[in-house]
Amino acid sequence: MEAALETRIRELAEELSRTEPVTWRRPAVALGRRQLGSLDGRPALRSALFRFVDAAPACRGPFDRGAHLRAFVREVDGERVPLALRPLRGPAAVGPLLAAYGLASGPATALLARQFIAGRDVKDATRTLRAMWRHGQAFALDLLGESTVSEAEAQAYFKRCAETLRVLADAAREWPEQPLLDADHHGRLARANLSIKLTALTPLLRPLAPERGAADAARRLWPLLQLARELGAHVHLDMEDYDSRETLLLAFEGVLASEEFREAPSVGVVVQAYLRDADETLERILSSPSLTQRAIPPTIRLVKGAYWDHESVIAGQRGWQAPVWAEKRESDACFERLTRRLIDARDSVRPAIATHNLRSLAHAIAYLERCGGERRELELQVLRGLGDDLAEGISRLGYRVRIYTPIGDLVAGMAYLVRRLLENSSNEGFLLRQRHQSLDELLRPPA
Ligand SMILES: Cc1cc2nc3c(=O)[nH]c(=O)nc-3n(C[C@H](O)[C@H](O)[C@H](O)COP(=O)(O)OP(=O)(O)OC[C@H]3O[C@@H](n4cnc5c(N)ncnc54)[C@H](O)[C@@H]3O)c2cc1C
Repeated sequence: MEAALETRIRELAEELSRTEPVTWRRPAVALGRRQLGSLDGRPALRSALFRFVDAAPACRGPFDRGAHLRAFVREVDGERVPLALRPLRGPAAVGPLLAAYGLASGPATALLARQFIAGRDVKDATRTLRAMWRHGQAFALDLLGESTVSEAEAQAYFKRCAETLRVLADAAREWPEQPLLDADHHGRLARANLSIKLTALTPLLRPLAPERGAADAARRLWPLLQLARELGAHVHLDMEDYDSRETLLLAFEGVLASEEFREAPSVGVVVQAYLRDADETLERILSSPSLTQRAIPPTIRLVKGAYWDHESVIAGQRGWQAPVWAEKRESDACFERLTRRLIDARDSVRPAIATHNLRSLAHAIAYLERCGGERRELELQVLRGLGDDLAEGISRLGYRVRIYTPIGDLVAGMAYLVRRLLENSSNEGFLLRQRHQSLDELLRPPA
């Protein structure tokens, strides 16, 4: 049985990796590809970037963020700094002006950021989203920005989310019918799909008092869900660091327990397989009445988790055992275990497998096939800028692909951009291994 599954994984991976690169459609991708490889084997530069990602949330506005990035990168001696991160020279007075045009860290950063970010705001991104839709790709829009430290910032984020939902729902109504993107085995799928960060909806997030943060976030989550219900849109709560997870789940379960959300809107959450307690978290979600006993089943996006270094460092500093697995293969094995659990539960939820790892992706498809599932019962998700080629391959196989598409000020998106650069150059990461290893090595089962 397992041998047949492995054979099918191999066939699917070969098929997926045969996709023609999308570079011809997006010239910035060509530059990005070269830049993305430029952090390989450069520990000092990587650690400078980690420091920037830590400092970014505390920066006062885009120019401050640009200045911090430049300062950290300048401290790196003896390593060639990639074009995309090279500080722009010029008199200090022009700084704010450059920042306004998203050029505070140099034009190459702006160009590279374009590969990941679809526009300054939703209006700016609408053309791109429509083109993706016509090309057969759905989207999950993400509003860039880091965690909120004041009431005013939380309110501003709430307003941006509400405005984005309105513009999206209005624009998407006119788009042509796409049967694979418009419906699955549970029925109609919302076209307007917004991913939100709970940490941006409240400044009161404290890991030791999750109820307090959850109650405050609920004040803004509630009207957002009401608006999504009115517009027929989908709202997805992204998962962030471990400290915020309980607050997020409490807020979501609490708000959705209200009778007024029993029928709609369509909602979703994320499970991170790099957490040692990921199996329990998925079971908690699958047995949560407010999440699963709804007219529209929730979408559960399975990811490995984007904060591995952060979680490991914080736990080390506190002398605690890290909440994340210590070895990559443990995260990969957990991801496959949860993929199967989610696919088995597809009668009550909408499984969405989000990964750029060919093995993890092919495993999900092969397992669905083995269970006799139909293609429309599984959604596959990738990130704009990293998973574009894979998205083409997924569509060619006849599966629905959703591209996680950030929008926002290019400089505000720098922390996001740097995370993607780091992810792409991590020794353990599939994207780096793909540049150096054979398909046999890449497809070895995680034991
Ligand atoms: C559409 C989409 C949406 C996403 N949404 C979220 C989200 O809401 N929240 C979130 O946290 N992330 C999110 N991510 C990012 C995701 O968690 C991963 O960081 C990213 O996809 C890389 O994982 P991979 O399977 O693609 O690649 P792989 O290279 O196979 O896996 C890399 C991942 O393995 C894990 N890892 C690395 N080193 C080790 C180690 N030594 N020990 C144990 N585990 C290790 C980490 O999680 C790392 O990100 C999303 C990704 C996608 C594609």
